[in-house]
Amino acid sequence: MKAIIIGAGIGGMSSAISLENKGISTEVFEAVKEMKPVGAAISIWPNGVKCLNALGMGDKIRAIGGDMQSMAYYDYQHGTPLTEFSMKPLVQRVGERPYPVVRAELQDMLINHYGKSRIHFGKRLVNIEQDQHGVTVTFEDGAQAKGDFLIAADGTHSVARPYVLEQSPPRRYAGYVNWNGLVTVDEAIAPAAQWTTYVGEGKRVSLMPVSENRFYFFFDVPLPLGLAEDRLTLKQDLKKYFSGWCPAVHHLIDALDPDTTNRVEIHDIEPFDTFVKGRVALLGDAAHSTTPDIGQGGCAAIEDAVVLADILHTHSLGIEDSLQRYQQRRTVRTRDLVLKARKRCDVTHAKDPQLTDAWYQELRSETGERILAGMCETIEGGPLG
Ligand code: FAD
Repeated sequence: MKAIIIGAGIGGMSSAISLENKGISTEVFEAVKEMKPVGAAISIWPNGVKCLNALGMGDKIRAIGGDMQSMAYYDYQHGTPLTEFSMKPLVQRVGERPYPVVRAELQDMLINHYGKSRIHFGKRLVNIEQDQHGVTVTFEDGAQAKGDFLIAADGTHSVARPYVLEQSPPRRYAGYVNWNGLVTVDEAIAPAAQWTTYVGEGKRVSLMPVSENRFYFFFDVPLPLGLAEDRLTLKQDLKKYFSGWCPAVHHLIDALDPDTTNRVEIHDIEPFDTFVKGRVALLGDAAHSTTPDIGQGGCAAIEDAVVLADILHTHSLGIEDSLQRYQQRRTVRTRDLVLKARKRCDVTHAKDPQLTDAWYQELRSETGERILAGMCETIEGGPLG
């Protein structure tokens, strides 16, 4: 059995590794000539880490993961804690740690585990055809490839999605802009082993420890779509949006490098229930594009990969039957994640300012119990518990 995999991102590479671990051969095709992940870093929550453990990459993710011992929300004006608590109870309950990782390191980890020289770079999918024997794909350069089935992990702008759905669901602007990057750890900005988030005015500034004594930072600001802002104006834009915020936030703005800071207008797609058409399956953001507000988009792609390979390995009624079972298993879980992220997004970014003010008040009496319980529920909803 051979799978064609489109996309060498988190979803595509996790699928390739997962399928090969189960004895299914794969061929991976990636549009770009060189991988340049959008976004500086990503948090892999324990549900994603458990899946990476199952794929045989546990040691590797631990080696590149940041040491995140505690979590805190700080008041935006005074820079003082609203709540601060250990993440130990979460780790103990779910049986695994979260790992914030630099995206490029995660991407390298996956690609090198599979074998970089085996991936066909510079192959942009433009057409899909299938019959009862298999799938034929055509690339922009006219080349073709054949397989028994196709995994389309071609991201949020998926060209396979309209083929599978026979329509193109629009991407929905979530109402805020996210700037993200890496800086050297500095305790004048936040404690080194803590996930720290400054909140106020429907905005947030967040810091997570990643490898080699660096913070992954991000700023969120509710803004209209399509503003003419770029690297040249980045520091002055952030200074303006965060005017009146505490010194630690301004310290961060001073420390960041505009040339390596990304600006992303955050979108998602209304969840849909069709991931599969015959021998073609969508996976990762192609299937469920989410806002990053609960940090689960990439984790969900890794979950997809583990579930898909497991079903193909353990069922014998044919590829189409197995892909239908994959769809059944994944649509419910991923709808839940997309909608949870959207709800969190709206509260964080003051879609209804009263609800956001109530949340700021709640944080003052938070012991960590409620927040960690919500996170544990999301984590334990994953395929490996
Ligand atoms: P992608 O990573 O988009 O990869 C798709 C690949 O397909 C790309 O390499 C692309 O070049 C290739 N491709 C596209 N079209 C074609 C084509 N026609 N032919 C061939 N190849 C093609 N998730 C988390 O789990 N935790 C987080 O903390 C987190 N934080 C985030 C923060 C931000 C600001 C954003 C925007 C997202 C965040 N996410 C997070 C979500 C996560 O980045 C995505 O869910 C994840 O990258 C999806 O992986 P993917 O492989 O499905 O898609």
